[in-house]
Formats: sequence, C-alpha cells, structure tokens
Amino acid sequence: MADFFSKKIEFLKGVGPTKAELLNKELGIFTYSDLILHYPFKHEDRTKIHRIAELNEGMSAVQLSGRIVNTQVIGEGHKKRLVAYFGDGTGEMELIWFKGVSWMQKQINTNATYLVFGKPQFSFQKISIAHPEIEIFNPSENQSGFLQPVYSVTEKLKKKYLHSKALSKMLRTLLPMAYQHIEENLSEAILQRYRLISRRDAVVNIHFPKDQQWLKRATTRLKFEELFFIQLKLLKQQKHKKLIYQGQNFKDTALITDFYNNHLPFELTGAQKRVCREIYRDMASGRQMNRLLQGDVGSGKTIVAFISMLSAIGNGAQTCMVAPTEILAEQHYQGLKKFADKLGITIDILTGSTRTKDRRVLHGRLENGNLKILVGTHALFEDKVQFDNLGLCIIDEQHRFGVEQRSKLWKKNNNNLYPHILVMTATPIPRTLAMTLYGDLDVSIIDELPAGRKPIKTVHRYEAQRLRVFGFLKEQIELGRQVYIVYPLVEESETLEYKNVMDGYESIQRAFPDHHLSIVHGQMSSADKDYEMQRFKKGETQLMVATTVIEVGVDVPNATVIVIENAERFGLSQLHQLRGRVGRGGEQSYCILMTEYKISKEGRTRIDTMVKTNNGFEIADVDLKLRGPGNMMGTQQSGLMNLQIADLAKDSKILQEARKMAQEIIEEDSELQSLENNKMKDFLNTDQKTQTQWSRIS
Ligand code: ADP
Ligand code: MG
Repeated sequence: MADFFSKKIEFLKGVGPTKAELLNKELGIFTYSDLILHYPFKHEDRTKIHRIAELNEGMSAVQLSGRIVNTQVIGEGHKKRLVAYFGDGTGEMELIWFKGVSWMQKQINTNATYLVFGKPQFSFQKISIAHPEIEIFNPSENQSGFLQPVYSVTEKLKKKYLHSKALSKMLRTLLPMAYQHIEENLSEAILQRYRLISRRDAVVNIHFPKDQQWLKRATTRLKFEELFFIQLKLLKQQKHKKLIYQGQNFKDTALITDFYNNHLPFELTGAQKRVCREIYRDMASGRQMNRLLQGDVGSGKTIVAFISMLSAIGNGAQTCMVAPTEILAEQHYQGLKKFADKLGITIDILTGSTRTKDRRVLHGRLENGNLKILVGTHALFEDKVQFDNLGLCIIDEQHRFGVEQRSKLWKKNNNNLYPHILVMTATPIPRTLAMTLYGDLDVSIIDELPAGRKPIKTVHRYEAQRLRVFGFLKEQIELGRQVYIVYPLVEESETLEYKNVMDGYESIQRAFPDHHLSIVHGQMSSADKDYEMQRFKKGETQLMVATTVIEVGVDVPNATVIVIENAERFGLSQLHQLRGRVGRGGEQSYCILMTEYKISKEGRTRIDTMVKTNNGFEIADVDLKLRGPGNMMGTQQSGLMNLQIADLAKDSKILQEARKMAQEIIEEDSELQSLENNKMKDFLNTDQKTQTQWSRIS
C-alpha cells in the first residue's frame, strides 16, 4: 500500500516531469498521496442545468445548456469585447469575453449545443455572464450531473494551464487506481457508532461526490479521522507519561494548613479551592503532574500558584515559575513575594538583566537547596541553572513556550525524579484549541471571579466624543480614582510608536493641567518604568499614559478607568487583557474604546464583542473564528494546527466526539494491542512518517 501512495507524481498518466516539477514547487505535491490529499476547497454545483427563464439576481454560479446564435465584437481598446448571444429556448442572454477575443470568436460553433457555467449578472433587463466556462455538450460524457471540485492553484500554475480543472483531471485518473489501495484505519466499532462511511469512499467523494449528501458524509468522515488520530496520539502520550514518570510524592500538608489558617489574605473562591484540590491531588499521587490551569484575567491565579508551591516546599522541595517576559516575571515575583514573606520562604528572581555576580550567588543557593522559589524568564531554561530538588515548575505560557521548552525543565533536577508541571495561561483558550494544543495535559479551570467584583462597563466612543470622555475621566479622578490611557503598539516602527505615545502624553497634559501624569513605554529602561509604575501605584499620579507594556504586570486596584486609543488596531485577546487592568477593586470600573469612524468589518466585530461581554472564553471563541488557530497561538505552536481538513473554529462537535472516542479506547487499551485497535496503531505509526515528510515540504 505504502508503495503505491509514495509513487512520484510524474509517473501519473498525463503529468510527466515538467508538470511534476511545477506541482512540487508550487503546491508541495510530490507523490500520489500528496495529490490525493490536496482536497478541493469547494465544489461547484453541476448537478442541475438551469433555464435562463428561471435565473434571478440572488444566484451564484449556474450551469446552462443551449446554443450560441451569433457573436459580435463590440468596442475599442480596453473596452473591446466579444459578445455571444446565447439562448436555451426559455430565454436569451449574453456571454462576454474581454480577453482572447478573436481566439474565442474562432472557437465558437453556432451549430453546437454548449454547456455554460458562470455567475449571471443582471442589468437593464439583460442577463449576462462574463468569462463563462463553456464546452460542447456531450450527453454521453456525463459532463453535468456532478459536483465539480475546485482546487487551489497558484498564478504560476494557471499560466502553465495547470488550473483547477487540470488537477481534477489528474485525480480522475488517479483515484480509480488508488481506490483498492486505500485501507481503512478506523475500527469497525467506531465506523458503526458514528455511522461513518469507509475511508475509500470518503477519499473518492471528497473529490468527486455523487451529491451534496455524499460530500457531507465524506467531509465528516475525514474530519473525524483527522481529529481522532490527533487525540489518540495525545492521549496515548499522556497515558504513557502517567505510567512511566514517577513524580515526587508531596503528602505533608502542614505548611499549607499553616498558610490557610494564619495568613490567607482573603477567602478563596469556590473555583480556586477546587483547582487547589485538583493540583494537590496530582502532586500527592506519586505520578508526575502535567496540568493546565486556565483562568480569566483577575480570576486569582497567583494565589493558586503559591498554594501549589507550598505543597512542594512543605515537603522539602524547591519550585520555580517561568514567565514569557521580564515585566511579567517581575509581576509574578512581586505577587508571590507578598505571600512568601509572611511565611519566611526564600524567593528570588532571575531574568536576562540579572547581573553575573548576582547570578553566581543565585546558582549556588539553588544548588544547595536554600532558595525555595525562583521566578524568572527563559533565562531559567539555561543549562547552568540547576536545582538541588526541583519539585514543581509553573509555566505562565501566554502561548509563548513550545512543548520542547517545557520538556527542558524536566531535566533540572539532581535527583532522578521529575518536577511536577503546571502550565498557566493568562487568557482563556477555546476548548477545541486547548484540547488540541494541550491535549496531553489535564485541565483545571478557574471559572469564577472573586466576590464583590462589579462587571466592567465597556463602551465604544468616537473621536468626536473625546471632550465628553475627558470630562468623565475628570469626574472619576475627582472621586479619587486613577486612569490608564493606552496607545497601540506600532509594529512597523518603534519610532512611530514612541511618537504616538509622546503626542498622546502632551495632549493629555494639556487636557489635564491640574493632574499628575505617569508615562511608561517600551523604550524606557526597566528602572525608569518601575519608578513610574510605583508613582502611579502609590497614587502620586492620577493618569498613566502607556503603550501596551502595561498589558501584563500591573495591579492597581484604585485604577478604575482604562481608555484604549485606536482600539480597532488591537487584537481581541489583547483588548481583553488590557481591560483586565481595571476592575480589580470593589469600585465600578470602565473601559472606553476609542476609534475612528471608519473601522474594518473585523475591527468592528472585535469592538462589539468587547462591549457585549466580559467573559474571556466567549471572547476567545470569537477570536478563534476571526483569526484562525495558527495566528491565535503564535508561530511556535501553529505547526500543530496544520490540519488537512478539520477546522478548530467550526468543528468543535466532531472534535469532542473524537476526543471522547479516543479517551475510551486509551482507557481500555492504551497500547492499542487488541485486534480491533491494531489498524489504528499501524496508522498512527505510519502517519508520523508522512507527517515528517510534510514538514520537509512546508
Ligand atoms: P490573575 O493572575 O488570574 O489575573 P491575580 O492572581 O493577579 O489574577 O488576582 C487578581 C486580584 O484579585 C489580585 O489583587 C488578588 O489579590 C485578588 N484576589 C485573588 N483571589 C481573590 C479572592 N478569592 N478574593 C478576593 N480577592 C482575590
Ligand atoms: Mg496574573
């Protein structure tokens, strides 16, 4: 079987070396299997021959059959065009060509019956189709009566006549030969349970479906298959890890109890308690924890992280927390230090800007076990950083670390035990995405905000309303509150970004002559940023003018208003993250999104979504639909998102079923030993090979 599919595409009848080279270069099609996997992105409906009399303005492309009565060249220069008068007995219309006029005119045969395909246009009682596809109708050839696949091709291929139709022709040759070689990779039980069609039929019908229903069946089957094998692989890995990797067994709860009874600064929410229990249970299980902690901005992840650390520290181990940026690391450090100091637990921070001298001291304290909590950036991944006994590693991902980096942390220990791993995300990830990206992790969700929080009121305002907005800010400041004003990141140019925020700063200064301002932007040194932040935190300044550097890392409960300038330029998750800077105290908070009058459709969707909801998961879902999974998660992990046919934004139902099925199988037969599961195991193994082949190409 493998032999057939790995045959070079040039050996397919009608292809040859020249075309093969183009297909290699332009579409990454090298083998029979590559061509078969080049699924069409849509189908044109050729099942019906319409009549001219029935056409109406709402119709997309239609198929017609009739005769061309006459042709005529009209106009001069770039307006020159060929008009063919076409009729089918129920009416008349015009077929128009602007290109290849004389060639086309010679081709047309007024005695023949044609099959015509294109989108009809209506004007002044006239119907026309510009650049229709036409061919002589030959009823014996079954030209009509099917859904015609449309394949993506490049401009270069089109120029060499390797357009969609040409690919379709190749597949018409290839698929009948391939049919008998296509082997089923799902068990009979799965096929029956989900009423899926066979793999052979699915592959044929994804290209050349008999009708819409078959197309749907083929699509469903192939999407299920794709998602199922991803889940099977992830869950198999997860199970494997659980069986193999011993974790440290943290059973002593004295330290946690002490903190709970004597130092807890507030009552934990129900969700925080539940999540703490889930984490504790993992860490006392004797198996390595691999858990994802999700919680919306402000849901209180810091204290959960700290309590988890206590589990390890109370049993003599050390802990670390890794953050993607220095500011975020600093913020975590400050947040955790507040708690750690109460218990006299040692804590320190390591980033790129830690001086060599301090570093040496720090390394020593890690190796002899004196330092219990280390917070840092990826500086922490360096091999030089070694622990005496690392018991727990918390990774604040914000979608920025890859799986490989995660696994680096496993080897940081002097003993042979692996640290427990807790991955935290600052913004919620849609369920479907989490299942795929973090499908090998157990998941805990903090789905509740601390009591007494008032939902943030979000409004959309235009430039013309600026004076009123400023008036509102003054009122809030008079009530004793503080205000953030945020300017967008300018990706193309740091100078421009700097100019934006400085211009903004000056105009705010003019508008608020009686108040004190802070400013923070990317080109300031950490020390200066810190100084300004502290002034704002202490209430010495009332307004904070900033770029997105404040997206993370600020906790000023007295700040109740955030104004986001050019809000249309921000991504959804960023807007949500920024909004999370307010609403941290008991007062009513506000988020004001300023935009121009003209906004793109997508920009408007983002703004409307922000105004409509405070729920991070809802926002993440919209974000996924707008941007697609690859862009949403950043480049590092987008490799995982190279799905052939399934769409994580649309196929959450299929994904959930696929995951459920995979879970059941792994639970019963994690090594896929049974006769029934054997072919799935085979496929999983060979599939990995094809995947490396693909990555070579892309
Ligand atoms: P996150 O990191 O999830 O965005 P934080 O851990 O920074 O949230 O917590 C946000 C704010 O809420 C902090 O000021 C924190 O002290 C406070 N907080 C956390 N949990 C609670 C709680 N259960 N009750 C009251 N306040 C809380
Ligand atoms: Mg936080």
